[in-house]
Amino acid sequence: MKRREFITAVGSSAALAACGAADDTQRTAASNTTRVHWRVVTTWPPNFPGLGTAINTLARYIEELSAGRMTLQVYGAGELVPAFEVFDAVSSGAAEMGHSVAYYWRGKSEAAQFFTGIPFGMNAHEMNAWFYYGGGLELWREVYAPFNLYPIPAGNTGVQMGGWFNKPIDSVANLRGLKMRIPGIGGEVLRRAGGTPVSLPLSEIFTALQTGSIDATEWIGPYNDLAIGLDSSAQYYYYPGWQEPGPALECIVNLDTWSALPADLKAIVEVACQAMNLDMTAEFMARNATALEQMRASGVDVRPFPDDVLVELKRLTYEVVDELAAADPLVERVWASYREFMRNARSWQLISEQAILETTDL
Ligand code: CA
Repeated sequence: MKRREFITAVGSSAALAACGAADDTQRTAASNTTRVHWRVVTTWPPNFPGLGTAINTLARYIEELSAGRMTLQVYGAGELVPAFEVFDAVSSGAAEMGHSVAYYWRGKSEAAQFFTGIPFGMNAHEMNAWFYYGGGLELWREVYAPFNLYPIPAGNTGVQMGGWFNKPIDSVANLRGLKMRIPGIGGEVLRRAGGTPVSLPLSEIFTALQTGSIDATEWIGPYNDLAIGLDSSAQYYYYPGWQEPGPALECIVNLDTWSALPADLKAIVEVACQAMNLDMTAEFMARNATALEQMRASGVDVRPFPDDVLVELKRLTYEVVDELAAADPLVERVWASYREFMRNARSWQLISEQAILETTDL
């Protein structure tokens, strides 16, 4: 397909309809001469495998689709603002766009973390279905609007791993006293199980685990964990990643900047984000599989959590989430939408995806 045909196809897509501009033709004509340059701040080191490379890809898509009318300058964590100031920087207009993860912003709204996902929650496939066809994205935009932000789904790592442990987890009792790097609701769940969740930046995880100042860490999955050498820092590699079954990433755009963007460039940004979203899930599937094979060949001890451990962690997860919902009407609405969508999607997945997976004979 030639570029012109692709842009035409994009222009007729649901993404353009979602932009809601009444005078698209006028704006499109005007935008042919518009030059737009955005600064994009991120929570990852520059070019970080999978996450940082994805935002570089997005920048390339937007520049190519707009024939150079729109360009993005990507900044790694700390280059323009620190990793955890992405939300504020875009909200204030210090940067036009950010690439991050919504669960880091629970201090702004507890509802935010549902748009990354919650422990024992939806996988990548289900999250995308909720965003695009289940009302999830509308809710997300409602939650972020008071912060002058416009969120767009922008990647998903797929199911993560449970993490690296220096002690075996044979029972619920082994969680007591466990000092683990684990963020968000997962961390609170570990605390209620008797452990100690700690927050550490990426740069400190490896040393903390190797020196024994923490007993365990979760990070992402085989591809990224291997990239930072976690396979040589701890003995046991547990699955599944109950704490992050399908974490979605976000592009956030300053709402004033977004509102002023010509309609055709809005469509390009939305569709480029959808393309990047698909790219990332495909890349993680391919590279995780290769990295896991490599780890197994080098003797990494890959183990499942015992069933009773998962049952207890799930019980505690729902306890935490129900408390958050009881304390905030907005969380209650988001959780109701999330829970209802997951329930329906899961009953279909059990007789489709899971039923097929269970026929696997390697
Ligand atoms: Ca993680």
